[in-house]
Amino acid sequence: SKKILPKPRWLKAKPADSENYQKLRSTVRDLGLATVCEEARCPNIGECWGGGENETATATIMIMGDTCTRGCRFCSVKTSKAPPPLDPEEPEKVSTAIAKWGLDYVVLTSVDRDDLEDQGANHFREVVQKLKEKKPDLLVEALTPDFQGNKDLIHAVATSGLDVFAHNVETVERLTPFVRDRRAEYQQSLEVLRYAKSLGGSLTKTSIMLGLGETDEEIQTTLEDLRAAGVDVVTFGQYLQPTKQHLPVKEYVTPEKFEELKLKADAMGFTYVASGPLVRSSYKAGEFFLKNYLE
Ligand code: SF4
Ligand code: SF4
Repeated sequence: SKKILPKPRWLKAKPADSENYQKLRSTVRDLGLATVCEEARCPNIGECWGGGENETATATIMIMGDTCTRGCRFCSVKTSKAPPPLDPEEPEKVSTAIAKWGLDYVVLTSVDRDDLEDQGANHFREVVQKLKEKKPDLLVEALTPDFQGNKDLIHAVATSGLDVFAHNVETVERLTPFVRDRRAEYQQSLEVLRYAKSLGGSLTKTSIMLGLGETDEEIQTTLEDLRAAGVDVVTFGQYLQPTKQHLPVKEYVTPEKFEELKLKADAMGFTYVASGPLVRSSYKAGEFFLKNYLE
């Protein structure tokens, strides 16, 4: 039988109760936005949505529907070969809602749409463009699919006016075929990041989950690969198994180990590194941006 590791105490979420959190919470449903923060029951919601006087309210919004054409073994998003068609009204509706919502920094992410001719790239582009039209000072990060490495499609999103182009490698090269959908390739994801960076104008960012059985050497190699691809920002967080049907956790990495990794990556020249058990790709992304990049 499969051994289930007990969850360590450092994975407990902090309570979400600030005024700004309450405010965002009470309006999100009226606006009809699908937030990853709520759907994934992200433990950081209090901190990210909290914002406040000197802080930046960040949220992650899912676009292009709730059904993905891929089936990564760590992800609980539902899967189908033929998801419902895109809603052509979505760019207008979502951008209006986000502009009203009172965020400082938004992460837009999407399911993968391998079923569509342009894999949804132009739709993604339109959402960013409309958002920037409606609220030019809102910082926008796009967390994108790999677009099967298609440069025209990566170009469409990377030149949409976004501030941060993010695409996640998720894990080290050896584990990629076991962790991500079989169509996802580690080298291809590096190429996506490299190409987006070559277009200039935005930061590039990627996230890695730990606790899937990766070795220290493999993490080191991954960091070297990412630096070579010009990636600016990297985040490390603990993988947590969403349901029993998903990949089991191999190891709960200690906070000390996360801190060591942060120091190591900082020394390698990344612009910013976030590393901790509860860190998610979008964890307090806005705060980093305002503190470290715009000043
Ligand atoms: Fe989940 Fe993204 Fe993989 Fe789709 S491509 S299954 S949304 S991680
Ligand atoms: Fe939302 Fe990301 Fe923050 Fe979690 S880490 S609450 S998903 S913005």
